[in-house]
Amino acid sequence: MEKLIYMDNHATTPMDPRVLEAMMPYFCEKFGNAASKNHAFGWEADEVVKNSRQLIAKSIGAKELEFVFTSGATESNNLAITGVARMYKEKGNHIITVVSEHKAVLDTCDALTHEGFEITYLGVDENGMISLEELKNSITDKTILVSVMHANNEIGVVQPIKEVGAICKEHDVLFHTDATQAIGKVRIDVNEMNIDLLSMSAHKIYGPKGIGGLYVRRRKPRVRLSPLIHGGGHERGMRSGTLNTPSIVGFAKAIELADKELEAENERTSKLRDKLQTALSTRIDHTKINGKLDARLPGNLNISFHYVEGEGLMMAMPEICVSSGSACTSSSLEPSYVLQAMGIPDVLCHSSIRFGIGRFTTEEEVDAVIEKVVQSVNKLRDLSPLYEMVLEGIDLDTVAWTEH
Ligand SMILES: *Cc1c(COP(=O)(O)O)cnc(C)c1O
Repeated sequence: MEKLIYMDNHATTPMDPRVLEAMMPYFCEKFGNAASKNHAFGWEADEVVKNSRQLIAKSIGAKELEFVFTSGATESNNLAITGVARMYKEKGNHIITVVSEHKAVLDTCDALTHEGFEITYLGVDENGMISLEELKNSITDKTILVSVMHANNEIGVVQPIKEVGAICKEHDVLFHTDATQAIGKVRIDVNEMNIDLLSMSAHKIYGPKGIGGLYVRRRKPRVRLSPLIHGGGHERGMRSGTLNTPSIVGFAKAIELADKELEAENERTSKLRDKLQTALSTRIDHTKINGKLDARLPGNLNISFHYVEGEGLMMAMPEICVSSGSACTSSSLEPSYVLQAMGIPDVLCHSSIRFGIGRFTTEEEVDAVIEKVVQSVNKLRDLSPLYEMVLEGIDLDTVAWTEH
């Protein structure tokens, strides 16, 4: 097989070698437990955890004590939503979120319905954007939490987080955002944006897997959380368990690099994305770009190739590692619920491919991907009777298909 090309950076990213280098001493040499208060090994671990926490918190305009380490964004979303729900249940039982959220938010909200909570799911328009009016109209005196993701993992659209924050503040409702995809690509200030809780994950920003965190506001208002994991009272009681020092060091290094290189990297990845987008949509007919064009993450391209199945296309170009708009569940191929929520017909959901350009994507790779995709789409369409009918000028919507 030819050399693999990785273009699935929304799913995960390769670790930056500079991150690995920073982590190395904390496995064998500096292995102390940050909770060991009686000797130098413990103090050393405690010190580096403190510095890492400070650096990560500062990157979003927060204070050291406002940041809790978790195993990743899935856990952070669970802790934020379930933690608030259980702590504030006397105040109200209503939570507002969005249909296009990550499953870690949607499944958590769904689980809370068994504890008596009521969930309102805001819709999205054909561009994947929420409506601020709908949000305002959904808030009731029972609403305790609004959870709106910053940037979407499939279509890359960036929601108007500052405006959402202002509405929540005005109505005295807590605001959580899953910023996993936005971190490292969008500058975030939790005070300016009125964010009360924010989830992130290291492996989406060239850091290690299995480490992430949750920002929890301490002032105006002081947010309290009911913990999910008990034992020992680490992380001010919000998340017990011995801290993963090497991964925390790696997480902080990943944040430091992302912060330093954000503008330059965004410029580079968006140029490559635009090149890919222009080439694919001019050299291939009947394509559709999914997600609001002027509010997308720089490395994101989600595009549907009409009359071609995304899964089939991926099989035709196995050396190119991307994702399709069909979620392969146990027995069937289901169209992406994010694309469906945007009103995109199932057949176009199944025809979609998500390209994710990242820090290590080269222009040569983009060029190779363009050629391979053009070639593969053409090959598959040559075999497609539907596409042949379209070329002959037949309007497929008017065809009277016989039922069997
Ligand atoms: C990847 C991702 C998650 C899950 O993060 P993990 O750290 O892998 O648990 C949650 N939300 C979004 C938007 C993501 O992209």
